Amino acid sequence: MGPERTDALPAAPSPAGLRLHGLSVDGVNQCVHCGLCLSACPTFSLLGTEMDSPRGRIVLIKSLAEGRIDLTDSAVEHLSLCLDCRACETVCPAGVPYGRLIEAARAEIERQRPGGPVRRSVRWLNFGLLLTSPRALALVAAALRLYQVTRLQRLVRASGLLRILPGTLAAWEALLPPLPPAADRAPLPEQIPAAGARRARVALLTGCVQQAVFGAHNRATASVLAKNGYEVVIPRGQGCCGALHAHGGDRARAGALARQTIATFEQAGAEAVVVNTSGCGAHMKGYWHLLADDPAWAARARAFSLSVRDISEQLAREPLRGPLHPVPLTATYHDPCHVVHGQRIRGEPRKLLAQIPGLELVELREADWCCGSAGIYNLTQPEMAGRLLERKTRHVLETGAEAVVTANPGCILQLAQGLRERGAGVRVLHIVEVLNRAYGG
Ligand code: SF4
Ligand code: SF4
Repeated sequence: MGPERTDALPAAPSPAGLRLHGLSVDGVNQCVHCGLCLSACPTFSLLGTEMDSPRGRIVLIKSLAEGRIDLTDSAVEHLSLCLDCRACETVCPAGVPYGRLIEAARAEIERQRPGGPVRRSVRWLNFGLLLTSPRALALVAAALRLYQVTRLQRLVRASGLLRILPGTLAAWEALLPPLPPAADRAPLPEQIPAAGARRARVALLTGCVQQAVFGAHNRATASVLAKNGYEVVIPRGQGCCGALHAHGGDRARAGALARQTIATFEQAGAEAVVVNTSGCGAHMKGYWHLLADDPAWAARARAFSLSVRDISEQLAREPLRGPLHPVPLTATYHDPCHVVHGQRIRGEPRKLLAQIPGLELVELREADWCCGSAGIYNLTQPEMAGRLLERKTRHVLETGAEAVVTANPGCILQLAQGLRERGAGVRVLHIVEVLNRAYGG
């Protein structure tokens, strides 16, 4: 891992400051109530209520942390409607770290309102078992693949059975992408040599759900990195980075998975940790804050966070190496929230796509506006997510593009579902798929 640049990260939070469920919310005091974030907030745009704006939620979080209000049903609703898209952070002149505030608020909601046995069991199944056990996830992926290829899925959908399933199961089923064959889900080799002159050694996060559902994206990422002179190491023993746990308010598991991820990648001896899923990348860049109170891990977490790079950020450091084959395609680009707002990466993906011969890039209206996926928001808040998806797909269709390119599995599933429902033949591609195609993959 590269040398630690502690100057590039803010100071660690004060142990004596405002906290919710042990997480610092001192950032609430940076808000000057100017309201510049209101027009950037998707939920404020749709609902028009102050308590569904960033400024209103900051007041709520501050009041909760100071013990001036209780966590009422209404407070929970306003906080739960937030997408955690962090568009407010991008426009905030006072640098309010909104993403960290809402994660602390969600952890507090989970602490005070864990729900009944059914909800707690479902959370354990997802957060405690599936996301933390690659083996369990692989088994579920294999079973779902069988469900799809045996046409059982078609029968179930035609039978109307989905309408009587409890909770969000029907919504989960609707989002299911075609599960890849076993070869695509298989682990990548531990090391992939650089093609041509070697630039650096980088480690690749293959993730949890990403490897099970979008293993082909991981292969394409490794291949494009190698074509650009990077020796790629894929550390064994890596798993979930804990992003979904942090977003879902499971603070304890998020911390444990962060420690495990840091320890695994430290062994790789790489200059950077490359990530092709935006939520994971943004979360791993924030490990320094998550582990700031742990004296045994704080310095390691800071060094690790500084080494994390989104795939576009890594590749755009130098012009793409040729030869590049033409990819005749009219495409538009959707900015995933946790790339554009969470990591402030806007120009790099466009710069990469512009280098592909034959590809025409047309800009998308409100390209950096959330598509409604937002982790599991589309399952927990289907009505709001549906309105955002409708707005996004309308803009995509206005461009006349044949494909929409993006950089996050959640956005890919959400956009694909929205375009499918509209009967549009627009393809949804991860940027590494397009780059890999330019290299003949
Ligand atoms: S833009 Fe920043 S400082 Fe202004 S109200 Fe929004 S969060 Fe507060
Ligand atoms: S994270 Fe997104 S939805 Fe939440 S307050 Fe900020 S802009 Fe609004």
